[in-house]
Amino acid sequence: MLLEVDKIEVGYGDAIALWDLSIGVRAGEIVSVVGPNGAGKSTLVNAIAGILRPHKGKIVIEGKDVSKVPSHRVCDYGIAVVPEGRRLFTAMTVLDNLLLGAYRSLARAERDATLAEVFQLFPVLEERQDSLAGSLSGGQQQMVAIGRGLMAKPRVLLMDEPSLGLSPLIVGEMFKIIQMINERGVAVLLVEQNVNKALEIAHQAYVIEQGRVTASGAPEVLINDPSIREAYLGI
Ligand code: ATP
Repeated sequence: MLLEVDKIEVGYGDAIALWDLSIGVRAGEIVSVVGPNGAGKSTLVNAIAGILRPHKGKIVIEGKDVSKVPSHRVCDYGIAVVPEGRRLFTAMTVLDNLLLGAYRSLARAERDATLAEVFQLFPVLEERQDSLAGSLSGGQQQMVAIGRGLMAKPRVLLMDEPSLGLSPLIVGEMFKIIQMINERGVAVLLVEQNVNKALEIAHQAYVIEQGRVTASGAPEVLINDPSIREAYLGI
């Protein structure tokens, strides 16, 4: 197991947001975590990224317990985050935003080669590298956010709602891009409200509701579960 979230409890003050929650990501997998608004998806991403501390349980990356590792060091263990809402530096250029992703020493040494790979994946970013990030379309900004994550050379890329706010056409492209990244050997933990698409590309999936895992397994099994079809797929 590349990433193991083992029975974590995470909260904001006294309010518990995740209860006894366990998920796992194996090397080479896309694992989708789906669930309604407020289910705890972003809380899970922030806990893995070291931004929120679990009160109980642990987070293990390649056998190492990172539950107490500060957030700025979690990337040293091969985790990169593409945050909800992209969080770009909109007044900086596309290139500078991308280079910011390569700050850990291992990534810095390979910065130029990784940048070439990112430009190969997103040719439009090479064309627009000197533009201010804020001047790009929503889809292109999401590409910058993903590219910045890849610049850290992660083993696991955590993606929080990458399709949020994008037009249906661009959403389809975004999911294809996630598959391409995965085919290049990066495991992906994908947190999504677009249940249909997220299950379509996943190798494993989890449904979380009110901070608890309520279903998990192969996506084709979940897609055929009547209660999931009714609740999330409108069928
Ligand atoms: P969304 O899709 O809306 O982002 P989500 O599944 O990512 O939803 P979270 O944002 O993780 O859900 O929220 C889980 C629970 O934690 C919710 O009940 C939410 O109200 C609560 N919560 C989230 N952030 C905070 C915060 N900063 N302070 C207090 N409670 C919070």
